[in-house]
Amino acid sequence: MSAATSGPLDRENGHVVVVGGGLATARLCTVLRRKKFAGPITVLSAEAVPPYDRPPLSKAVLAGDRDETPLPFDTAKLGADLRLSTRAIGLDPGTRTVRTDAGDVAYDALAIATGASPVRLPGDGPQHTLRTLDDALGLRKELVPGARVVIVGAGWIGAEVATAARSAGCRVTCVEVGPEPLTGPLGEVAGAATRPWWAGIDLRTATAVRSVEPDGVHLADGAVLPADVVVSGVGVRPETGWLAGSGIATDRGILTDTRCRTGVPGVVALGDVAQRWSAHTGSHRLVEHWDDASTAATAAAASLLDWEQGPEHDPVPYFWSDQFGRKLQYVGAHHPADDLALDRTGDGALVRAIWSRDGVLTAWLGVDRSKDLVTARTAVGGPVSALA
Ligand code: FAD
Repeated sequence: MSAATSGPLDRENGHVVVVGGGLATARLCTVLRRKKFAGPITVLSAEAVPPYDRPPLSKAVLAGDRDETPLPFDTAKLGADLRLSTRAIGLDPGTRTVRTDAGDVAYDALAIATGASPVRLPGDGPQHTLRTLDDALGLRKELVPGARVVIVGAGWIGAEVATAARSAGCRVTCVEVGPEPLTGPLGEVAGAATRPWWAGIDLRTATAVRSVEPDGVHLADGAVLPADVVVSGVGVRPETGWLAGSGIATDRGILTDTRCRTGVPGVVALGDVAQRWSAHTGSHRLVEHWDDASTAATAAAASLLDWEQGPEHDPVPYFWSDQFGRKLQYVGAHHPADDLALDRTGDGALVRAIWSRDGVLTAWLGVDRSKDLVTARTAVGGPVSALA
């Protein structure tokens, strides 16, 4: 994508508006100040509380170990005007104006970091999703011993919620449409090697859900799973709806180049809402992980300050998940057709997965192998034999 031109931003008086109140926003504001941007920064956040960290929501917060997860975001120190409970509802790049439910806000440069929202299942029955601190605190209250908890989706969120629910003494069922847990992100073979961790949970794979009704989860085959608590962990959608008619190009997320620039001058996008070009894959990718939302701020800030030049952001992707007492760490990006080599424990459980194509390492996954992470990360893109 070729970004249209826009001159350097006035570093003393230019007005940066950031839409969104999460990790990407917090990091972007910090980087802008570190780069000596002295102009006004206005942050428009739909949430009622300042930016906080989301990964602990499905881990320490659900487990009852933490009640809050604030991110470093000192408005006084940053000199930022943080407008909470303010939702952007439209954008007019022609007049450089963001429309919000509390009136119009003019900008000289704009960053979009509106993240993503969980997909909800059809039906009138109560269902939890997990994206906000309130979501986590609300769900935690219901994870009591003996509660019948049905989790829909055995992906990252489903596995982490299952971990917390099992520890809380709930009776846990997890329904997954794929053939194995984590099939989506890891594929069937590596996903199957995580099965031993699900002991004590009624894991029903290759099972489709039709709807969530007041009496429980209705399956596609007509069966009903009675439930006290239903949790949907079936993915998220980037928050792009408010940009309809703005001219900002979207696919699933907002399309940007490797410098986080949209096709509209002066407008960047980063974090879970962005679908950034990657030379590694030759495609626009939705990354949707903490590390990328955090590190993209450097390139996004540079593009806001000088549209014409700045660093590219196309790192080897990294994410982690804490589930069933284990830490999983993944680096790279594999294709389903890649070669896969697995290391397992005696009971067949996953220890390490290595994906490669034509002898080149495409991705690595380690279970409780943090000490190997840096080596693996630097090895991606090189000969797979380096990890032997
Ligand atoms: P968000 O953090 O979603 O922030 C977006 C903000 O924009 C929100 O405050 C939202 O209210 C606001 N907003 C949306 N629309 C509007 C609007 N129209 N106007 C104004 N404001 C708006 N990643 C990992 O790598 N490892 C993990 O273990 C992990 N665990 C996770 C666990 C949970 C429960 C969740 C939800 C996510 C997890 N992630 C994990 C993903 C990681 O947290 C995200 O990648 C990261 O939070 C993305 O940051 P963001 O700023 O782009 O979006």
